[in-house]
Amino acid sequence: MVRAAIYARISSDREGDQLGVRRQIEDCERLAEQKGWQVTERYVDDDVSAYSGRVRPAYRQMLADLRDGHLDAVTVWHVDRLHRQPKELEEFMELCDSVAVSRLASVSGVIDLSTHDGRFTARIPGAVSKKESDDKSRRATRKHQELAEAGKIAGGGTRPYGYESDKRTVRETEAAVIRECARQLLAGESLRSLCSDLEERGIPTVTGAAWKTQTLRRLLMSGRISGQREHHGELVAASEWPGIITPTETTRIRALLSDPSRRTNRSVRRYLLVRLLRCGQCGELLVSRPKEGGARRYACASGPGLSGCGRTFVMAETLEEFVVEAVLHRLDSPELATTLSGAPIGEDGDAWQGEIESSQTQLDELAAMYGRREIGLTEWRAARAPIEQRVTDARKRLSRLTRTSVLDGHVGNAADLRARWATLPLSRQHAIVAAVLDHVVVGPGRRGLNRFDPSRFQPVWRL
Ligand SMILES: [Zn+2]
Repeated sequence: MVRAAIYARISSDREGDQLGVRRQIEDCERLAEQKGWQVTERYVDDDVSAYSGRVRPAYRQMLADLRDGHLDAVTVWHVDRLHRQPKELEEFMELCDSVAVSRLASVSGVIDLSTHDGRFTARIPGAVSKKESDDKSRRATRKHQELAEAGKIAGGGTRPYGYESDKRTVRETEAAVIRECARQLLAGESLRSLCSDLEERGIPTVTGAAWKTQTLRRLLMSGRISGQREHHGELVAASEWPGIITPTETTRIRALLSDPSRRTNRSVRRYLLVRLLRCGQCGELLVSRPKEGGARRYACASGPGLSGCGRTFVMAETLEEFVVEAVLHRLDSPELATTLSGAPIGEDGDAWQGEIESSQTQLDELAAMYGRREIGLTEWRAARAPIEQRVTDARKRLSRLTRTSVLDGHVGNAADLRARWATLPLSRQHAIVAAVLDHVVVGPGRRGLNRFDPSRFQPVWRL
């Protein structure tokens, strides 16, 4: 008899129930049955992120039981449930070696730890295979869908306007603003004039910023404010929190705001990959050049005052999706985690700022000495060079720090980010993409080929 353990973990159980873990266990039990293994123990760690390296009691217990010879096999939903840090995986494999346990099964495939191939597979969950990113999005999708259909509150994010931070108690002052805006919008007022009205009256958004038409549009179109749960933009269920306006009003607002004839500012559609695309033929940055008719497009622009070659064009929509997917995938790669663990991500930028300032002071002093003829030009130049180098280095470190902090909470957690991506403002999306990606080299399009050709694009990663 093969005695199998099931190990399940959910990194964050914000919803307050155990949907995730229960599902992992069910799937693992089915898997063990298929393999003819007898499940003798179930180990569950909840609400703990393995990635953060905190202690997982059930995991520790399982290791002890493995060590004591109580187990012959381990079943997990996916290897990433077991470990997120390469170091942990190595420990696990060493232990399995020492007690001759070589059966590790995951719902996404069986891994035989006694073979070189098996170990390799265990080491690269998702590093190169697209499979893991599929699994992640499948897992996230399944979970999000279950929650949505149950009308549950979605986890994460800032406090929704109109509600307290528990996301269910109505904040009456803000609810009044929502009702008023909804009524005025349905009465023919434009989003823009509603925004300037709110600004004049000093009414801020949740973050304290001024209202933008996009923010107000998203708010008024949301099912949340009429007590409806959304999933991928569809209203799927009555929610567990109360509404502020009626579902009928939401339906009317949605119809009104999705009417294409209403869109007057069509030309200001934004471009996510500005400054991130380089022409493969001449090396210039591509710029936004919509086609006649408005379809968004990037181009290597030539002409008066432009230095491009005018030979490279690429349609924006699919390319942006492709690049975002690549970036999200990259965020989950072990290489990125390793790079960042070596980077001063949590480090205070003050040190570098201080370095810049003290170097500036030194440069000023040197200039003053030269001015007073206490040193000659050659000496001045020689003394300046290393200080200027220090300033340049410190600036680089500082900007790297700012860039990587954009990624806080997202590395190794791309499924969550993917689920929220569409709701993020463009500036935030751009910052995340630009933190990971230096640029993409855009090769020439093949004549006559109309579909999207990924081989044209060569990403150059920053991280
Ligand atoms: Zn070019």
